[in-house]
Amino acid sequence: MKFQTLAVSAVLAMAAAIPARGELPDQAGIRAQAKAVDPQVIAWRRDIHQHPELGNRETRTAKIVAEHLRSLGMEVRTGVAHTGVIGILKGGKPGPVVALRADMDALPVTEPEGLPFASRVKTEYNGQQVGVMHACGHDAHTAILMGAAKILAGMKADLPGTVVFLFQPAEEGVPAGETGGAKQMIAEGALANPKADVVFGLHTWPGPPGRLTVRNGGTMAGSDQLSVTVKGRQTHGAMPSKGVDPVTASAQVILALQTMVTRQMDAAAAPVVISVGRINGGIRHNIIPDKVELSGTIRHLDPETHDQFLERIRKTITGTAEVAGASADVTIEPYAPPVFNPSDLVAKMMPTLERVGAGAGGVLRDPPATMGAEDFAWYQKEVPGMYFFLGINKAEVGMGEAAPNHSPDFFINEDALKTGVEAMVSLTLDYMAGGK
Ligand SMILES: [Zn+2]
Ligand SMILES: [Zn+2]
Repeated sequence: MKFQTLAVSAVLAMAAAIPARGELPDQAGIRAQAKAVDPQVIAWRRDIHQHPELGNRETRTAKIVAEHLRSLGMEVRTGVAHTGVIGILKGGKPGPVVALRADMDALPVTEPEGLPFASRVKTEYNGQQVGVMHACGHDAHTAILMGAAKILAGMKADLPGTVVFLFQPAEEGVPAGETGGAKQMIAEGALANPKADVVFGLHTWPGPPGRLTVRNGGTMAGSDQLSVTVKGRQTHGAMPSKGVDPVTASAQVILALQTMVTRQMDAAAAPVVISVGRINGGIRHNIIPDKVELSGTIRHLDPETHDQFLERIRKTITGTAEVAGASADVTIEPYAPPVFNPSDLVAKMMPTLERVGAGAGGVLRDPPATMGAEDFAWYQKEVPGMYFFLGINKAEVGMGEAAPNHSPDFFINEDALKTGVEAMVSLTLDYMAGGK
């Protein structure tokens, strides 16, 4: 992952005291319950890890989740946004609706040997045979939320509000030509029925075990997918002037994009990134092809300058191609806006994170934003939402030394899972204690 620094807000310093939880357990009580459910959480995580499924294909995982939620007496909806599962836990007392989200999909990554529950699953992805691995920790997210569901269901009678458990498919993106993910969960009523007042989500990442990390404001980048076809005119490689060469035009387009980012965008005000990750064109060394296809990713943190940024990208590509005598078709598909944690919600929930962190790895506030993206951002467009991170490194491994998310060597320290469970339960109870 790549990091960028933004200004740090002082709002967190004004965090208010948490209202009392009444009949419900205190922090030690929640911690004890998270510990009690921990062996089951670890068993779920290992089972899901060993049987990973790609986006929109999470049928086995969804079945396990749905059966668990039904066994807890919840109202359960399945098949949401293809394979998503929603559990609704209506507390015995009136109060706010708290949505908790976990993602369930794995990645086309081949897992190395090592863990006794390592994945041996293979599947086809974009026409290629690939291994499948939970290399982003979504196995842990699913297991953590299943554990939190068990604890919260045990408090049903005293619960002052409703909890909506969102088990979402395809966070990593959908197979070509399909729809899905958070946006579709919302379109199918995930936050509307019942109407959520707040949404919380967490992501495992390589930090000290059990450490919670939260950032006020822009936390993760917004992401768009760029597809370009540079069109020239086919000719012999020895006689380029007889045609129009889309290969050199593409090379100029790629470099022009990087120059545009550094010369035209304000690096201090609004960090942006463009990376072209795929170039495809030509068959033979001495034939200049008709066209070249490029695809890449576009990242931004500032919604204010996003439209202007995309406009400059389009202009840079079409203008550069034109100068070379070629033309370019540009398609930009949104993946998600930036993950943005509203300062009043972060301030309100900070004492909760501090209490959970005090029994685990502490709390890190306001680290630099990451240019990684998360479709949790769509939920935050609908209702106030807070997204935070859970450290899952081995105790002896430093922050920069561990393999990042999406690496075949990404590792989850299972000791940290109970802190994730405690955090999800505590955020729910404290938000509810604050009333509607
Ligand atoms: Zn990921
Ligand atoms: Zn992820």
